[in-house]
Amino acid sequence: MNPENYRAICEELKPYHCRLVAVSKTKPVEDILQLYGAGQRVFGENKVQEMCSKYEQLPKDIEWHLIGHLQTNKVKYIAPFVRLIHSVDSLKLLIEIDKQAQKNNRVIDVLLQIFIADEETKFGLSEPEVEELLISTEYTRLQNVRVCGLMGMATNTDNEAKIASEFAQLQVFFKKLKTSFFSAQPHFKELSMGMSADYKIALRHGSTYIRVGSMLFGER
Ligand SMILES: *Cc1c(COP(=O)(O)O)cnc(C)c1O
Repeated sequence: MNPENYRAICEELKPYHCRLVAVSKTKPVEDILQLYGAGQRVFGENKVQEMCSKYEQLPKDIEWHLIGHLQTNKVKYIAPFVRLIHSVDSLKLLIEIDKQAQKNNRVIDVLLQIFIADEETKFGLSEPEVEELLISTEYTRLQNVRVCGLMGMATNTDNEAKIASEFAQLQVFFKKLKTSFFSAQPHFKELSMGMSADYKIALRHGSTYIRVGSMLFGER
């Protein structure tokens, strides 16, 4: 754990309406407890099993965010406690989250993951796919999920102008959806973008959640 980097990032975030998700994937619970001791309460994991095991072992006031690809058959394991799922990339998944949330008598907050990068490997919906999802009858029937915003990952490149243009594009789309689909829903306000290498750029484009791992916990 790197306490200097942690304090520096917290300082950097102060002028912005942005929170830090400390990405603890692959790191032991001891590392998480250290950052918890420094005051951090929001942690992000990309694997269901790992997140469940850490949830069991760690203090219950931690907010667990799922940031990685989620398979429908695994939703049930995290439904009782997950605070925010950043990586919803299909209507099928949204329907399953709704079902499991209902079983747990709760509403689960989610973000729709939007494909903004050049790379084939990144999951996510295209802009037309999101619009199609939001106007579908299946979606409008869901009562136990709440779409709170969007998530995106920029291309893994040194080209800052390219990263900035991808984040800018996501911010434009976010604003468009806010006006066209969510104008009566103030909870649609989150934009999850920016990681260790590019969070400074994301902050300039309206990010409300940065997801930072290696800068806090060291290389994986
Ligand atoms: C691992 C991961 C991060 C954090 O990446 P770092 O480069 O370690 O900061 C952020 N978002 C997602 C979706 C991740 O899988």
